[in-house]
Amino acid sequence: MVDSFGTIKAMKDYADKENVPIMQDDGINYLIKYINKNNVKKVLEIGSAIGYSAILMALANDEVEVTTIERDEKRYLMAVKNVKKLALEKRIHLIYNDAMDVNLSEKYDLIFIDAAKAQNIRFFEKFEKNLNNEGTIITDNLSFHGLVAKKEEEIPSRNLRALIKKIKNYISFLKTNKNFETDFLDIGDGLAVSRRKK
Ligand code: SAH
Ligand code: MG
Repeated sequence: MVDSFGTIKAMKDYADKENVPIMQDDGINYLIKYINKNNVKKVLEIGSAIGYSAILMALANDEVEVTTIERDEKRYLMAVKNVKKLALEKRIHLIYNDAMDVNLSEKYDLIFIDAAKAQNIRFFEKFEKNLNNEGTIITDNLSFHGLVAKKEEEIPSRNLRALIKKIKNYISFLKTNKNFETDFLDIGDGLAVSRRKK
């Protein structure tokens, strides 16, 4: 018997305890609904962490297949364990590598970017060729705990200021993108939903 409820609860507890930044409830619920409503079958995720969002996306319905990339060994191994516990090995493909070094030829209906926030533009530009014509790229953490909306002097550290600047650059990149149209949603920690212009 697969105890999905118990395993998912255990993943949330682990993430909480070990400070693994998994998706917030509102954000993941939006993704699950998006998958079901838009008939998404193939998902590519950048940033698996311990497999939480990949697992919940795969559980949206039986036809979903997720490929997900993680560069941190410990988290990757946790993800492998969690996917096994839920018997989802056939539908979740875990890749242990830096996403910038992963070259895929397949096309996906949904690409979910949730990795190093300073690299969003690079991820977007690298993987947009793997997106189906009608596909969507969703990016997480565009509000970064509310800090993106703050004034620069209100951001406590230099590193954080640099990171917020990168997220703002990414927002401008999306707003001025010639090929994609983006909706910015105040859901979870801020989601960007980008689709090809017609
Ligand atoms: N999507 C997950 C959370 C991901 S947290 C969930 O909601 O359950 C972000 C993860 O991205 C971290 O585990 C980090 O190690 C990974 N990451 C950051 N930059 C990466 C890169 N360049 N390639 C692969 N993984 C990366
Ligand atoms: Mg996130």
